[in-house]
Amino acid sequence: MVERHAAYLTRLDAVLGDGDHGDNLVIGFRAVEAMLEDLAPDTAPGELLRAVGYRLVAAVGGASGPLYGTAFLEAGAAAGDSPTIDASTLGRMLKTGCDGLARRGRCTVGDKTMLDALRPASDAFTASIEAGGMLASAMGVAVQAAARGMRSTRPLVARRGLALRLGDKSIGHLDPGAVSAMLLLRAIADG
Ligand code: ADP
Ligand code: MG
Repeated sequence: MVERHAAYLTRLDAVLGDGDHGDNLVIGFRAVEAMLEDLAPDTAPGELLRAVGYRLVAAVGGASGPLYGTAFLEAGAAAGDSPTIDASTLGRMLKTGCDGLARRGRCTVGDKTMLDALRPASDAFTASIEAGGMLASAMGVAVQAAARGMRSTRPLVARRGLALRLGDKSIGHLDPGAVSAMLLLRAIADG
């Protein structure tokens, strides 16, 4: 999925940043793919996600590696060592992942970052599960919320990352990280 959308993500980043977001994610997730081959098939989900997080932090030079890496690390920590993940654990993992990313990036919703897609998705997932929704439908609701959050970045002024330098000139463009965040969530939901 990352490879399929890499050129688009890099093009978006050429407008607001330095034109490498797609390339950064390809480097990161190729490193993850290589690492997965070395993991035992019975590795618990939490341990797997923590390993993914470390790999992303270590392999990617750009800001997105440490940010997504921290989100995966924190989600993995929330999953603990349980062999399976139920809906309420997944809700906690999404929330903890967002919290970790927000802390690492010192960002909040409205700053025109990946968090603008991830936080509403996490909130919508939890609300859907608490209202009695099934896991698959809660994931669908979360992806829709991520897509809305992604679109919400277009009129915003960037307050974090390289786009910060553009000031008002960042208005009118989608944040590349918010787009990749929606795509990653959609891939998880479809997975
Ligand atoms: P870099 O900006 O180092 O070139 P990327 O191009 O891979 O890294 O990623 C850019 C994306 O990272 C932005 O579109 C934004 O969503 C996200 N980002 C950058 N800095 C921050 C931050 N401090 N907090 C949250 N997200 C950030
Ligand atoms: Mg960049």
